Amino acid sequence: MPNTTLTTGKQRGRRSWAEPWKVKVVEPLKVTTREQRERAIAEAGYNTFLLRSEDVYIDLLTDSGTNAMSDYQWAGMMLGDEAYAGSRNFYNLEAAVQKYYGYKYLVPSHQGRGAEHIISRVLIKPGDYIPGNMYFTTTRMHQEMAGGTFVDVIIDEAHDSQSLHPFKGNVDLQKLEDLIKRVGAEKIPYVSVAATVNMAGGQPISMQNMRDVRALCNRHGVHIILDATRAAENAWFIKIHEEGYAGKSVANILRELCSYTDGCTMSGKKDALVNIGGWLALNDYDLYEEARNLVVVFEGLHTYGGMAGRDMEAMARGIEESVQDDHMRARIGQVEYLGELLVEWGVPIVVPIGGHAIFLDARRFYPDMPQDHFPAQTLAAELYVDSGIRAMERGVVSAGRDPKTGQHRYPKLELVRLTIPRRVYTQAHMDVTAEAVEAVYQRRAEARGLKMIYEPKYLRFFQARFEPL
Ligand SMILES: *Cc1c(COP(=O)(O)O)cnc(C)c1O
Repeated sequence: MPNTTLTTGKQRGRRSWAEPWKVKVVEPLKVTTREQRERAIAEAGYNTFLLRSEDVYIDLLTDSGTNAMSDYQWAGMMLGDEAYAGSRNFYNLEAAVQKYYGYKYLVPSHQGRGAEHIISRVLIKPGDYIPGNMYFTTTRMHQEMAGGTFVDVIIDEAHDSQSLHPFKGNVDLQKLEDLIKRVGAEKIPYVSVAATVNMAGGQPISMQNMRDVRALCNRHGVHIILDATRAAENAWFIKIHEEGYAGKSVANILRELCSYTDGCTMSGKKDALVNIGGWLALNDYDLYEEARNLVVVFEGLHTYGGMAGRDMEAMARGIEESVQDDHMRARIGQVEYLGELLVEWGVPIVVPIGGHAIFLDARRFYPDMPQDHFPAQTLAAELYVDSGIRAMERGVVSAGRDPKTGQHRYPKLELVRLTIPRRVYTQAHMDVTAEAVEAVYQRRAEARGLKMIYEPKYLRFFQARFEPL
C-alpha cells in the first residue's frame, strides 16, 4: 500500500527524506485547556467550521487557501501590477497555465467556485445531465443551480473505504455509457472529471482511464471538463503507480492528463500554493468568449477575475513550484506518514492513503451509531475537544438533502477528513495528530452522537449547528 519506501518508527540504517525547504518565518500556535475547548465547541454548535481559528491548535480543517508561500512567491507579491485592466501579472499567470496545464485560454476567477459557476452557466441547459467521478459540494451545487442533474459514474470501489484499488478515482465506463444510452448524448453537455477525487478520499484517476473516457466522449461528441484543483497531486500518483510513468516528471504527466480534456476549473487555493484565487481554462475559442463575457458580470474584468495583481503573480509562481517532483514527494509523503502511523495503530482510515488528507472512517469508529446521529460530525467534535485539532465532516451532513425528495442523502462513506496544508506543519505535528486520533479511538465507546438544531438551505455543512444527544 505505501507509495514510497517510507517507513515510520526509528530504525537504524534508515534513510529518511525531509522537506525540500527550510523555515524563514514562524507563526506561534495557541495551546488551550480541555475546559476551554469544551466551551468553544459548544459555542460553535459542534461544527468545526464555526470555531475561531485562534482556538485551534493544529488546523487540519482544509488544505484550501492554507498553503505556506515561498520567498519567491512573497517576492512576487511586491511585483503586483494593480492595474484595473491588462495587469502584467495576468499575462504571467496565463503563461504559467498554458505552460504547465496546456490549455489555450484563461479566465481568472476569485476562487474555484467562481469558475464552476461560469462554466455551468455556459454549458448546462435545464434538463441536462452531468456525469462525474463522484460529486464535489460546490461543483454539484452550480450544476444543479444551472438546471442540471449530477450523476455519479465513479467506479464502485470508490465507495468502499477498504478497497485497495490504486485508482479509486476512475470513471466507470459502463456507467457512463449506460447514461449516454439512457438520456442521449445531446442531454450531456460534458463529463465532469475530478483529479484527484476529494470526496473519495483524495483518490487519483489513472491516465489510462482518462484516455478511455476521452475516447468514449469523442464517439458521442461530449466535452470533458476537468476539476484540476488537485491534478498535480494526481500526476504524482500516476508517476508512482501507473506503468510507464515512473521516469516522467510530474509536470509532464500533468500536461498529458489535461490534454485529454477540453478545459478545466481550478481552485488555486489547493495545488497552486496560494491563499486565494482560481481560474477557468478552455481550448475552444467560442466557449472561451462566452465565459470571458460572463466573468465580467460575476467576478471582475477578464484580466483579474476577482484577484489582485499580486495574487495572480503569487499563483503564477506557485504553479511553477507545485509541479516540482521534490515538492510533491514531500507533500504526499507527509500525508502518507500520518496515514501509516494510524494504520500501524489499527485506527480505521480510508485506504489507500490519498493525496491531501487522511480520512477517518467514522462508521467503524462508531459502528452502532445511526447515520442520522451524525457519526462523522461527532468524531470531528471529539477530536477537537481531545487536543485542539480541527478536522472536517465528510458524511451525511456534507452530502445534504436530495433537491427532489427533501430527504437526507445517505452517503456510503461517513468520514472525517484530516487535511494537511501544504508546507505548513512538521512531522512532529503529524505525530501529535496521530496520537490524538488514537486516544479518541480508544474512547470510542463513550461517544453519544448529535442532533441538528439549525440547518441552512445551501451547503449546510458550513453553518449547521448541533447539540449532543
Ligand atoms: C476546493 C474545491 C473546489 C472549489 O474551490 P474553491 O476555491 O473553494 O471555490 C472545487 N473542487 C474541488 C475538488 C475542490 O477541492
